[in-house]
Amino acid sequence: MAELNYRMISPSQTSIEGGIRSVEGPKVCFAGQEQLIMPIEIEDHKPVEETLRDRERELSQLIDMVPSHLWRLTPEGEPTFFNKRMVDFLGLDVPDMDKPGVSRLEAIIETVHPRDAAEFRDTLNRCLVTGEHFTMRYRLRRADGVYRWMSSRAEPMRGPDGRIIQWYGLCHDIDDQMHAEEALRQSERQLQQMIDAVPLRIWSVTSMDGPVYFNKRYQDHFRAVIADFEAIEEPRIETLLQELIYPEDAPEVQRTLLNCFESGRGTVMRFRWLEKDGAYRWAECRVEPRRDQDGTIVQWYGVSLDIDDEVRAQEALRNRERELSLLVDMVPSNLWRLTPDGETTLANKHMADFLGVDLEDKRQLAVVFDAIFHPDDVDAVSDVLGHSLRTGEIFSMKYRLRRHDGVYRWMSGRAEPLRAPDGRIAQWFGLCHDIDDQVHAEEALRRASEQLARATQAASLAELSASIAHEVNQPLAAIVANSHACHRWLSAEPPNVERAKITAERITRDANSAADVVSRIRALFRQAPRARSSENINHLIGEVCQLMADGTAAKGIRIETNLEPDLPSVALDRVQVQQVFVNLVRNGVEAMDSAMVDGARALQISSLRDGIDAIRIEVRDAGTGFEEAERVFQPFFTTKQHGMGMGLAICRSIIESHGGRLWMANNETRGATVAFTLPLEASEAP
Ligand code: ADP
Repeated sequence: MAELNYRMISPSQTSIEGGIRSVEGPKVCFAGQEQLIMPIEIEDHKPVEETLRDRERELSQLIDMVPSHLWRLTPEGEPTFFNKRMVDFLGLDVPDMDKPGVSRLEAIIETVHPRDAAEFRDTLNRCLVTGEHFTMRYRLRRADGVYRWMSSRAEPMRGPDGRIIQWYGLCHDIDDQMHAEEALRQSERQLQQMIDAVPLRIWSVTSMDGPVYFNKRYQDHFRAVIADFEAIEEPRIETLLQELIYPEDAPEVQRTLLNCFESGRGTVMRFRWLEKDGAYRWAECRVEPRRDQDGTIVQWYGVSLDIDDEVRAQEALRNRERELSLLVDMVPSNLWRLTPDGETTLANKHMADFLGVDLEDKRQLAVVFDAIFHPDDVDAVSDVLGHSLRTGEIFSMKYRLRRHDGVYRWMSGRAEPLRAPDGRIAQWFGLCHDIDDQVHAEEALRRASEQLARATQAASLAELSASIAHEVNQPLAAIVANSHACHRWLSAEPPNVERAKITAERITRDANSAADVVSRIRALFRQAPRARSSENINHLIGEVCQLMADGTAAKGIRIETNLEPDLPSVALDRVQVQQVFVNLVRNGVEAMDSAMVDGARALQISSLRDGIDAIRIEVRDAGTGFEEAERVFQPFFTTKQHGMGMGLAICRSIIESHGGRLWMANNETRGATVAFTLPLEASEAP
């Protein structure tokens, strides 16, 4: 006899394979669709049974292998079936839930996390009553006690009369997904907190005219400066430009942004924005696109930072730099900077103009030494500067510098090193100012004073001559008158010897008074002795060199010294001995000046021991040499147009008054040497 069985199929199906014939049957509603309940007639008992077993095995395998939990409930919510996966998960099967006094529904609720249990119960009860689909996420306890998140869904199967026959449920493990989502939410939260916390104003936009997202700081800023900010539903870039940015800066910002969006390239803009106190502050906004994997721009980000303090500090710095550079350029002196090796790295405008070099051209700054210094000064400058660079001592000297038009002008130069914290010299800073007019004025002054001295000397000489003539004339006139008288007395008949004798005595008296006049004049030149002090002769020479340096340099003559160190001190009248030096140096310089000597013109002063009881000083020149050596010590002997001829005579008398000796000799090659000695135990000359 054929047995009838039922199968649920969708109405669109017209036939059933596998030997099962389709027949008309009642309809049920399941999974939101109308289903047909098809009675299946089993034609051949045996093969059908086998087929069914196979099918059941297949279905059972399928149900157990589905990677989800499948379950079935009675219309009252009592579980009637769990698939194998669910049994394995819970560690219990439906029959295991049968406990006295506890319904299966309660038993299943008991496996739900206590925090989710109430909602689970309410939702399930509501669905059981209303027949609504059950959908919920909850945590379910695994056999090992660990709760895992599940996403569950159940739908009722209704009978032909519409009544619910069964509930079929599916629930799958979403624990990993939930944790991933939670982690994502957490990281999003953190990111958001960070975006809101950083002292930056951040915005993002998808297009130039799309709505703009502002971070909290930006929104706070807007709220503070725009009265009705809350009324703006979707702020746009336009809003930003109109409300926030300084009107003069807004067009440029708009242009830059447009350009940026069109070109797809990021940019950095600076503009002023409105602050809540109504003032505008400088801001910098960095705009960058975000691209997807294909490189298509999906969003634009802008990060704005308040840089007002920085901009103002920079502006102040720039102003200060401008002022300083103006100051450096306007200082009416030449300023320059050297590396520790002596290479020029900077010159102010004044110096560049003086030398005629281009400040921009760094190579021109590294001017060649020989090109700017006077040929006569090059060696001295390079010696002194080299010494300073080696030792770190301050550089200070006078030299002539070549102006752009080829004229040499006297300069007073000074340079000091700037040291790094470790003491090494980092730079040299130098200043040299034009003293040419001053040098010439001094030279003119010196000449004028010399002329004046000579005029005075000449005047006093004339006076002296007149007074000598007057003084000597009187006794001479008396001698002449007495000679005549004496002659007359002796020529008388008879000769009046007595009267002649008296007259001869008067002649002697007058001659003596003439001799007295001469002695007095000599005493005048010998000068009165003065107090003596113990002096270091080398120091004295140094002082004289300094005193004469300008005058000699003006004539292009260098004074060189060759001093024996550790010479004993000498008791002397420093003013007088200084006078000797000044005289000898001046004579030497004048001799060289008139000799028109080519090349380096140097006057050498040496000091040395002379035996055990004296020191010797030599002043050696390269001038004309003495022409009439035997006469030079005679008073009033001079070969110079304005000379007085007393210098050497006075020098000799001073040295002799110190117990020393003064002599001169022509050099073998050129010029002359005047030497003198000073005894160590100085004694007053008689
Ligand atoms: P003045 O310098 O006024 O002529 P001095 O007594 O100092 O008087 O010198 C006398 C002369 O001796 C000079 O006129 C000069 O002819 C000569 N004389 C002095 N010093 C030197 C010298 N260094 N070289 C050559 N001649 C000199």
